[in-house]
Amino acid sequence: MNAPLSAPALQSPRNHVAVIGAGPGGLSAAMLLAARGVKVTLFEKDSVPGGRTRTLTTPEGYRFDLGPTFFLYPRILSEVFVACGRRLEEEVELIQLDPLYRLVFEGDGTVLDATPDIARMEAEIAKLSPGDAAGFRTFMAANRAKLEAFRPLLERPFNGHSQWLQADMLKALHLMKPHLTVDGDLNRHFRDPRVRLAFSFQTKYLGMSPFRCPSLFTILSFLEYEHGVFHPVGGCGAVSSAMARVATEMGVDIRYDTPIDRVTVSGRRATGVEVGGRSIAMDAVVVNADFAHSMPKLLPNGIRKHWNDKRIADARYSCSTFMLYLGIEGSLDLAHHTVLLSEDYKGNIAQVDGGIIPQVPSLYVQNACASDSSMAPPGHSTLYMLVPVPNLRNGADWASETARYRELALDRLAALGLGDLRPRIRYEKIVTPQDWQDEYSVGYGATFNLTHDLRQMLSFRPRNRFAEVEGVYLVGGGTHPGSGLPVIYEGARITANLLMDDLGVTDAPLTASVARSLAAD
Ligand SMILES: Cc1cc2nc3c(=O)[nH]c(=O)nc-3n(C[C@H](O)[C@H](O)[C@H](O)COP(=O)(O)OP(=O)(O)OC[C@H]3O[C@@H](n4cnc5c(N)ncnc54)[C@H](O)[C@@H]3O)c2cc1C
Repeated sequence: MNAPLSAPALQSPRNHVAVIGAGPGGLSAAMLLAARGVKVTLFEKDSVPGGRTRTLTTPEGYRFDLGPTFFLYPRILSEVFVACGRRLEEEVELIQLDPLYRLVFEGDGTVLDATPDIARMEAEIAKLSPGDAAGFRTFMAANRAKLEAFRPLLERPFNGHSQWLQADMLKALHLMKPHLTVDGDLNRHFRDPRVRLAFSFQTKYLGMSPFRCPSLFTILSFLEYEHGVFHPVGGCGAVSSAMARVATEMGVDIRYDTPIDRVTVSGRRATGVEVGGRSIAMDAVVVNADFAHSMPKLLPNGIRKHWNDKRIADARYSCSTFMLYLGIEGSLDLAHHTVLLSEDYKGNIAQVDGGIIPQVPSLYVQNACASDSSMAPPGHSTLYMLVPVPNLRNGADWASETARYRELALDRLAALGLGDLRPRIRYEKIVTPQDWQDEYSVGYGATFNLTHDLRQMLSFRPRNRFAEVEGVYLVGGGTHPGSGLPVIYEGARITANLLMDDLGVTDAPLTASVARSLAAD
């Protein structure tokens, strides 16, 4: 049962909302609520904003994205800024990349430079498989239609299972082909498995395998070709910092180094938050902290009938990532984004899904200095390495694995023609799945949250208006529509609208279509 706020909140002179967590979801929700006159206090356990979307800056002057490096589909965040009377492009410089990224197929050494330029992309595909080049246009057309049909569903809340029977849902389901996986759907356009991989490795953004991920998610690669891949100058964390700056200027009270211990409740109604033994009364609470990690701590198990501790523990979670952040002396002969696809890419994914740490892993590296010299001191470079590995559900002991896996990851750089970088390393930081959990509060170290299979999407995902406790709302990758920056920003908009409805904030709602018309002005 959903539980919109009841009368007392409507009567308070100025509603006061707590947001727990200054990740992308929490920041956008705070901005949108403040834009409508709601008093917002944002509590962040760390000393910086952004959560997983922050930039790490070292004393030597190296800068690394901690998590996201692909900034996609800026339109939604632009609309959030416009709703706050600001322009995203005036707050953050976004560089559009072309090529989008380089793919290296280790098996036969072929290389594909993905580009949004149709003729050039057809030529790139033809290098691998001449017969597949024509499939690029049919892929784009099919996914344009798919996104159009599915977009309304990503822009509205899913408060109940009956919404699966609404007309727009049924129309979208037809195009979504629920019986197909991403790889299966791509087979309609491309015969060569390497070409299919070029359009399907993006399911890794959700921490999922293209051989299991629902076919809806072919829209991920489509979005890259249709709307571009961007690099925010200073890293994706620059976007989070800009959001925190704007939120503060709008009156949001951001309290860093302030971990919330629990949400206080009276009966089935949230009454505020507790920090360091002190209770602070609130009209509503928006939770951005990672769902799997925070829910068991923030709300008593007994009050959560559906998403109780057992269900959270039994849910399905994305893979994790082993990260290396390297400050390198000199420059690197490497594209901004490069994905190395190991010869046994499929076996590799099965290993990660099955809890085995791959010994010849595929990996992704970012050489941000290729486009943005501000990411390293003069004469130096930064290298970000991400290796998909199992989450902690399968119990790998990273304390004993880390040193060995570091060597293995560095050895893999030879496959990209980088040779041995060890003598040039001047700074190094490692983040393992255990660190994601312990340092960054990511449940099971599952960096991309709950998986996005059909049984954990839409009305089956933890809902934006948390169904079980009145006055609690969710934002971030653990709620609808899901993980990945554009959908997280969209989810915050959905949540903010629900909350403002419940608080009786009567201004026109910030629906996607209203925001689009504002953005067009
Ligand atoms: C390695 C990696 C690569 C990724 N790459 C991409 C990419 O290229 N493109 C993309 O679109 N997405 C990417 N993502 C996915 C996703 O966009 C990011 O993880 C995003 O930051 C998730 O945002 P969020 O709002 O869910 O919360 P988070 O970023 O997790 O933020 C939650 C915040 O809550 C705080 N918090 C937790 N507990 C408490 C508490 N008790 N009290 C107060 N504060 C608390 C945390 O400190 C944190 O600041 C990537 C993720 C990872 C980890």
